[in-house]
Amino acid sequence: MNRFAVLQLSGCAGCEVSLLNAEEWVDRYRLVYMPLVISAHDVPEVDVLLVSGGVRTDEDLYNLRRAVQRARQVVAVGTCAISGGVANLGDRDEVRALFLAQAERRHLPHLLPKVRPVDSVVTVDRYLPGCPPTPELFMAVLFQPPDFKVSKTVCQECGRKKLKDMRPAHLLGFQQGEVLPDICLINQGYLCIGSSTRGGCRAPCTRAGHPCVGCRGPSDAFIEKESSEWFASIQRVFAAMTDVPAEEIEAALRSPQLALFLFQFADYAPPSFPPSGGDEGRATRPKEKVL
Ligand code: SF4
Ligand code: SF4
Ligand code: SF4
Repeated sequence: MNRFAVLQLSGCAGCEVSLLNAEEWVDRYRLVYMPLVISAHDVPEVDVLLVSGGVRTDEDLYNLRRAVQRARQVVAVGTCAISGGVANLGDRDEVRALFLAQAERRHLPHLLPKVRPVDSVVTVDRYLPGCPPTPELFMAVLFQPPDFKVSKTVCQECGRKKLKDMRPAHLLGFQQGEVLPDICLINQGYLCIGSSTRGGCRAPCTRAGHPCVGCRGPSDAFIEKESSEWFASIQRVFAAMTDVPAEEIEAALRSPQLALFLFQFADYAPPSFPPSGGDEGRATRPKEKVL
C-alpha cells in the first residue's frame, strides 16, 4: 500500500481538514505522518509527501528540508505552500511586532525575513492550489485519474450568465447589497476574478453569491507569465463588461477586503507592492505540474 505523509508548515490546517473530508484514500493509501491526527515523531520514508503551509520560520525550513529527503514525490498543497498564503500576514510590520513581543516569552520559532513558497526551498513535483483545495482535488492529485480534468477558469464552472446590457459604473464592494441569482457577479458590480482564475474548485463561492477571490491562482493562460499579465487580464474583463474606472478596480484589488487574495498571491504582486513585495521573483511553475 502506498504511504503518504502530510507536513504542515505555517498555515491554518484547513488543507488537512479538507483532505480528511475525503475518504477515497483510506483503503488505498496509508497515512503515516500528519501531526493533526497522528502522533508520529518524524516523517518516515513515503511515496508522497504533501506539504501544506508556507515557509515562515526557521523550524519550517528545517522540517521541510528534512522531510523531502524521505519522499519519492513532493506535492505543494494549498495557497500557503505555493505562494505564502496567510503566513504572508507575518510580513506586515504590526503583525511582526506582535509576534516578536511574544517570541522570547513563549519560545517561539524564529521568523524568517519573509515567508517563502515551498518551491523556493525544495524541488516540487506537483502543485495543488486552493485555499483549501477541495477534497475532490486532493483525490485527483493522489490518484491522478486519467479522465480528471479541471476547467480552464472558474467562470466555466460557475453557471452564472454574463449579460451585455448590465454594466455597473462602480463596484459595490464585498459583502454589500443583494446578490441576484444566476447573473454574473461582475454585472452586479462585484469584483469577481473567476475569469482569470484556474478552475477545478467547481466555483463554490460564486455559486453561493460571493465573488471569486482567486484562491486557485492564475489560470493556465497566466500561470507561467509575469504577475502584471494576470492583473492586466482582470482589468480587461472589467473594461469589457463594466464602466467601472480602471483606477477603482486597481484600488479594490489592493484593498484590505481583497487582502486574502493578495496575501495568497504575494509572489505575483508587483515588486513595489507592500507588505511582502515579490521582489525575489517566483519559481517557474510549469502548467503541466499544476492541478
Ligand atoms: S491554503 Fe488556506 S486552508 Fe490551506 S493552510 Fe493555507 S490558509 Fe489554510
Ligand atoms: S466572473 Fe465570477 S460570477 Fe461571473 S461568471 Fe465568472 S466566476 Fe461567475
Ligand atoms: S470560486 Fe474562487 S475563491 Fe472560491 S474556491 Fe474557487 S478559486 Fe477559490
